[in-house]
Amino acid sequence: MSGMAATYSVKRQGSVKLAPNFTVKEFQCHDGSDTVLVDGALVTLLQKIRDHFGKAVHITSAYRTAAWNKKQGGSSNSYHTKGMAADIQIIGVSPVEVALYAQSIGAGGVGLYLYSGGNFVHVDSRTAKTRWIQARKSGGYTVVPSIFPTVQRGSRGDAVRLLQRGIGAAEDGVFGSGTHAALVSFQKKCFLDTKEHDGICGVKTWTEVVKALEK
Ligand SMILES: [Zn+2]
Repeated sequence: MSGMAATYSVKRQGSVKLAPNFTVKEFQCHDGSDTVLVDGALVTLLQKIRDHFGKAVHITSAYRTAAWNKKQGGSSNSYHTKGMAADIQIIGVSPVEVALYAQSIGAGGVGLYLYSGGNFVHVDSRTAKTRWIQARKSGGYTVVPSIFPTVQRGSRGDAVRLLQRGIGAAEDGVFGSGTHAALVSFQKKCFLDTKEHDGICGVKTWTEVVKALEK
């Protein structure tokens, strides 16, 4: 069950294995506090990700005390303070791949952070499916229906920013006529079928955009 985080002591239980590839100390708060909360459902999620990619999952931030979370600028109801969230990176695997996989296995919260110096994925074990994308270091994130959502004329926010980055349009987060024109020419380059040149970025186009982003 989610939301039932267990309490551990880093000093006494830091080396305790919570799953084959995760120990208690990996979840500790960076402020050095001894107490650490870890939700079993989060560990299950992380182990699934570890097994799927067959590579070490580096936890950059998991449990945060309320004070530390505030100091880091985290939201006051952050799942990190409940021991239900982890920010992760896998060396050699794109955060896009990690986020899409976490989404595919039904993780509660999945946040994709894609900007220079901040390529990571937030996963958490909340019940309600919540997805978001943050394309800039500051300026916040955009809640999206999925990673990646369909974006088209009139769309706004960080999914649009990633699209614009991928297709070489001005990155302002607003899908106007300039982005539309750039997307249509991008689709013409990618797809022979003229039906695909619709100026709407759905799953098929996102696949190409992500390839361009990762170049
Ligand atoms: Zn996080």
